[in-house]
Amino acid sequence: MKIGFIGLGNMGGPMAANLAAAGHEVTGFDLAAPVPDGVTKAASAAEAAADAEVVITMLPNGDILRSVAGEIVPAMKTGAVFLDCSTVDVASARAVAEDAKAAGLLALDAPVSGGIGGAQGGTLTFMVGGDKAAFDIAKPLFDIMGQKAVHCGPSGNGQAAKICNNMILGATMIVTCEAFALADKLGLDRQAMFDVVSTSSGYSWSMNAYCPAPGIGPKSPSDNDYKPGFAADLMLKDLRLAMQAAETADADTPIGEAAMKLYERFVEQEDGRGRDFSAMLPRFEKRGHGEG
Ligand code: NAD
Repeated sequence: MKIGFIGLGNMGGPMAANLAAAGHEVTGFDLAAPVPDGVTKAASAAEAAADAEVVITMLPNGDILRSVAGEIVPAMKTGAVFLDCSTVDVASARAVAEDAKAAGLLALDAPVSGGIGGAQGGTLTFMVGGDKAAFDIAKPLFDIMGQKAVHCGPSGNGQAAKICNNMILGATMIVTCEAFALADKLGLDRQAMFDVVSTSSGYSWSMNAYCPAPGIGPKSPSDNDYKPGFAADLMLKDLRLAMQAAETADADTPIGEAAMKLYERFVEQEDGRGRDFSAMLPRFEKRGHGEG
């Protein structure tokens, strides 16, 4: 396939490289990042998009997505697929999809989980909103860049799935960390705590697969001085998107809101910026009851 790829940063770069390595004809554009091996460099986003059957965007946020969409939608061929893989607000995803459809294009929002390691290894999970026909066209590309793609319904539903998942993840990580800090103060050994919880009703991905206590459970960023992994800054971004969506949709999300506020303090006022999101454990270790 002829593919245009816009946004070749930490995630987009390796995703584009994997598509090129699989034999697709990839033309890429980024304002700053280098074009990876095997990808042809375009002089603008519109040039990367003009001739493509599928145009993939992997950009920082919804405002940038809307602005890039303004450039590429008029340049794309009728019937081509606009496939956005960025994590953005549901409203931007739906607005961009509507503009694309009005211009005779197919549109998908397909945010990912799996991080930079997943992008490099081609093991991402895609959560996809948009028409099933567009999903079927993009499916072989999802299979190269990832190991799983779930069609979640109409436009915006990929972003909805992503922020609901990450709201659960943020809240579970926090409570797992505070439970370890409580266990410490009660004199309960961390390994014993892990052995019980990981096989009891408190188990979760945060405990079982990504344990925030160093030296316990499978290898995770806690074993590497909390270098990300999944940075607290990115968790904060996703929790903010979840709270924005909750407000728009009039949903009551008190635990998600508490998680967002904690990550906000951790990143903006404490030492969380640039650390893994599981570094909440050393944060709680240092605090006393009611310190918030
Ligand atoms: P990044 O900052 O490394 O890459 C974004 C790229 O977009 C940059 O290279 C930037 O130069 C480029 N860009 C910005 N404006 C542009 C424009 N107008 N035209 C062309 N290029 C432009 O970010 P990333 O880590 O690759 O993340 C990309 C998206 O993936 C984000 O929405 C992020 O939330 C999401 N995501 C990231 C991770 C992760 O672990 N990094 C995991 C899941 C999802």
